[in-house]
Amino acid sequence: MPVKTSRVKKSSNFQGIFFELSIILAALALISGTALDYLNFKQNKATYLPWSWLTNHPDGQAEKKFETFSKQPVRPEGPYASSASETLTQKKLPLTAIIIDDMGEDLTFMQELINLRVPLTVAILPDSENAAKTAQLAARYQIDVLIHLPLEAFNGQTVGLGADGLITTAMSREEIWSRLEKDYERLPEARGLNNHMGSKGTANHYLMEIIMEFLKEKNLFFIDSRTSSQSIAYDLAVKRRVPAASRQIFLDADDGRNKIKDRLFELFSLAKKNGQAIGIGHPFEETLQVLKAYLPAARNYGVQLATASEIIVRQEASIKN
Ligand SMILES: [Zn+2]
Repeated sequence: MPVKTSRVKKSSNFQGIFFELSIILAALALISGTALDYLNFKQNKATYLPWSWLTNHPDGQAEKKFETFSKQPVRPEGPYASSASETLTQKKLPLTAIIIDDMGEDLTFMQELINLRVPLTVAILPDSENAAKTAQLAARYQIDVLIHLPLEAFNGQTVGLGADGLITTAMSREEIWSRLEKDYERLPEARGLNNHMGSKGTANHYLMEIIMEFLKEKNLFFIDSRTSSQSIAYDLAVKRRVPAASRQIFLDADDGRNKIKDRLFELFSLAKKNGQAIGIGHPFEETLQVLKAYLPAARNYGVQLATASEIIVRQEASIKN
């Protein structure tokens, strides 16, 4: 009965294939189970593993990519994609530092700056409501902190932002010194100091000598905000051997705040011309939008973002050489 034989043969062939398939499936299940266990084990050791990435990339590269990821140095509190010191060994680009003045009131703005994940500097008004918290937050994310020292202006402004803790040329040496001590106690994270207002203060020898002496004693650097062309502060700092630099560009001081992008690119051009440049901005929404749009890709414009202290360090190193 050839037909029957053939039927029996077919049926036994099906059984054979089914058996082989079962073996293969069982083996696959075992392998994938072991692989998942392994990945799970590795995940417990890693700081972060995006599981969605694994499921969205079923191309067998997941584990390879994960290995690369987990071997990267863990810098959970470092916001920078790269910092100036890291790239000194790479191509040496002109340094650009951006200082945001008048900080210490709005913690949300501080968080926005952290989210940019680029080297930045914040100048904090010591008497502002959230001064200490802002400084702690900044320091945790390796953002430089400056004491934003309210100094007397020619227009005699004694009310408004920075009026608290204002230092005037009429004060005694003791008064000035104790205010500086108090400010530094409030902002111990500070690496340096720059002036808030101060058109009269920075033109005054008596006052600036005391401030320079203080900075020297505390090992802090000075950034002249240059709120007046009559400022003697930078020259005096150099004379007294206090590490110092000057602001070149105000990013958002124009009426209507509609030239912020132009000012930023002016700052980049100055950095390329002089090897470094410092710009100052303020906690304005318009400023933030421009920083968000251009800072993360600053290298594409031929500059390396840096903190104020990185500028000072490179400057001091070039003076010694
Ligand atoms: Zn200011």
